Amino acid sequence: VKGRGKNDFQLFTPQMQQEFERKVMIEKQLQTALVNEEIELFYQPIMDLKTNEIVGMESLIRWNNKVLGQVPPDEFISIAEETGVIIPIGHWVLNTAIEQHARWQKTTNQPIYVSINVSVRQLLDPTFLEKLKNAIENNLLDPSQIVLEITESIAMYAESMSEKLAELKKLGISLSMDDFGTGYSSLSYLTKYPLDSLKIDKSFVINMHRNDENKAIIQTITAIAKEFDLKVIAEGVEGQEAHHFLKEIGCDYAQGYHFSPPVPASEFQERWL
Ligand code: C2E
Ligand code: CA
Ligand code: CA
Ligand code: CA
Repeated sequence: VKGRGKNDFQLFTPQMQQEFERKVMIEKQLQTALVNEEIELFYQPIMDLKTNEIVGMESLIRWNNKVLGQVPPDEFISIAEETGVIIPIGHWVLNTAIEQHARWQKTTNQPIYVSINVSVRQLLDPTFLEKLKNAIENNLLDPSQIVLEITESIAMYAESMSEKLAELKKLGISLSMDDFGTGYSSLSYLTKYPLDSLKIDKSFVINMHRNDENKAIIQTITAIAKEFDLKVIAEGVEGQEAHHFLKEIGCDYAQGYHFSPPVPASEFQERWL
């Protein structure tokens, strides 16, 4: 940390100290989050912009801890990845989302897909494929209704990833590139990885009306998706304006507060199924 004067250096500002303590606390509390049943999945509908009907849902993790309260996933997922606890948590997410989806398939006639966020750390776990296979088989689920959302960070493991993803695809599931356009990687993975869809990052969609560059980026990503024969999903659709624009340019699917925030399973069932 830069000091105020020439010889005035501080290793730890009070703010850094606070952040550090919070991180340590999160690490500690995360260890018992699963057994204490503090973790839950919310679901958010994904809409078809042509028919205005629901086509799928994304599962989104929620953590309510007795000491820390509600901790947002953007804060704890990266910590869970660092410590490795993302492996059991990710396994729980996979099973819970697939079980829930299977139950809804049996009790409703709504043929919607479930989209599950998967961290790189999970993909690198040598037992991941087996776990996914078991979850699908145990629930007698049609794998074509399962989408795994991965991020551009997988490009750092380019060599082993292509094979891994190809094996996953053999199970019959679909792969979606999340947060598209925010990573550092080149576009070469569009030909290297067996993707089915791209998700336009919400930062572009939310700030669409603020500058034309975001609109241009959204249009470009949509065009890239078409070119590569991929579906394109926009997240962060908060209002009618974005909804119209996306529909106009031929974006396939949309997700956002405009349709619904992520909600608990019971609420999702009531409202959408
Ligand atoms: P993400 O996968 O990009 O998920 C989209 C985020 O946008 C979610 O935040 C969602 O609640 C939020 N969102 C949806 N619609 C809107 C909107 O109209 N406006 C705005 N401003 N936001 C909207 P959330 O639930 O806080 O999750 C944050 C991130 O945490 C996710 O980003 C994902 O990277 C990660 N995450 C969530 N659940 C899981 C999980 O089960 N496993 C893993 N590995 N990561 C997860
Ligand atoms: Ca996602
Ligand atoms: Ca995203
Ligand atoms: Ca994100």
